Amino acid sequence: MLVLHMIPWLNAFISYYTETVMSTTQFSSELRGQYKAKAYAAASAKSPLAPTTIPRRDPGEHDVQIEILFCGICHSDLHQVRNEWSGIPTVYPCVPGHEIVGRVTKVGSAVTKFKPGDLAAVGCLVDSDGNCHECQAGLEQFCLHMTLTYNSPDVHLGGVTYGGYSDSIVVKEHFVLRVPSNLNLAGAAPLLCAGITTYSPMRHWGVTKGKKVGVVGLGGLGHMAVKFAHAFGAHVVVFTTSPNKKEDALRLGADDVVISRNTDQMSKHEGSFDFILDAVSAEHDINAYIRLLRRDGNITLVGAPDKPHAVSALSLLLKRHSLSGSLIGGIAETQEMLDFCGKHNITADVEVISIQKVNEAYERLSSADVKYRFSIDMASLKSQ
Ligand SMILES: [Zn+2]
Ligand SMILES: [Zn+2]
Repeated sequence: MLVLHMIPWLNAFISYYTETVMSTTQFSSELRGQYKAKAYAAASAKSPLAPTTIPRRDPGEHDVQIEILFCGICHSDLHQVRNEWSGIPTVYPCVPGHEIVGRVTKVGSAVTKFKPGDLAAVGCLVDSDGNCHECQAGLEQFCLHMTLTYNSPDVHLGGVTYGGYSDSIVVKEHFVLRVPSNLNLAGAAPLLCAGITTYSPMRHWGVTKGKKVGVVGLGGLGHMAVKFAHAFGAHVVVFTTSPNKKEDALRLGADDVVISRNTDQMSKHEGSFDFILDAVSAEHDINAYIRLLRRDGNITLVGAPDKPHAVSALSLLLKRHSLSGSLIGGIAETQEMLDFCGKHNITADVEVISIQKVNEAYERLSSADVKYRFSIDMASLKSQ
């Protein structure tokens, strides 16, 4: 969910919560029972993550309580912990984590899809208003009143929501996903953000067998995009600035690798792509990729460079090219993605760490030193 901070409507929904919902939370917090959960939190933008306890609500009738087994580390976690997003100022203490996989420990009386002992997952969202146009369309990620898994106002307990760097979480049933039992759980955790972020735009733009698909950037998002495009039966080309990533790209399912700084290699592919997923958050020339699209081809951004892209209108209009963005996916599509992963045995390539190593992992993530995602083994929090 690298792109969330760039979206102006988030400001609108934050003010909505601050002005209307937050004013009512004091009341509900007095009514709702709560328990203490172990977690790792940052006390300020400059503090390392450290052990603490946080309140979680006792599960209500529609809630599922989950013992967290693994939580992936998304680049968004690092940005939020360091308060680097002006659109979503961080409230401290901050417990990040929105790539959550665990086991159900308790369910409310009205819960029908889960029972204790089931595997379960939670992604970037834990609530929405359920009745707006977006929610009705199953696109809760675009709901103006959605609640992010962490650092969103918590209507139950007051304060803000706390994420997955914790031993448990309580989430409304609608936002809890089923996890196919054949998947490696450490590698399944990143599917909840990196997975759906790349799966959703490829489904939306019709990536199927026989299509030629480009993936720009081979990091946490890019490596998932390669796996999905390959599983959809597309011809997959990875664009990278690092020649040493070639072997890995091929292993992950790419059919071809292009060194993007090599103009000869780039021009060989001109006008040939049906779809390109751009997962790069660093500054780069997007026109170089738009030129590679065939008529009616689309390039979708899931990375968000700080500086706006300079887009040539000509490169778009000459072959009716389109440029879009995409943001995670709705709950139904996230479930579809997990089921697809179960069927094709797709998980993220992860480096499993203990929670005690999380600050070190953040440093390494800052310098892109991970293949391709860190996944925290939450058993390590038990001994804390
Ligand atoms: Zn994320
Ligand atoms: Zn809604």
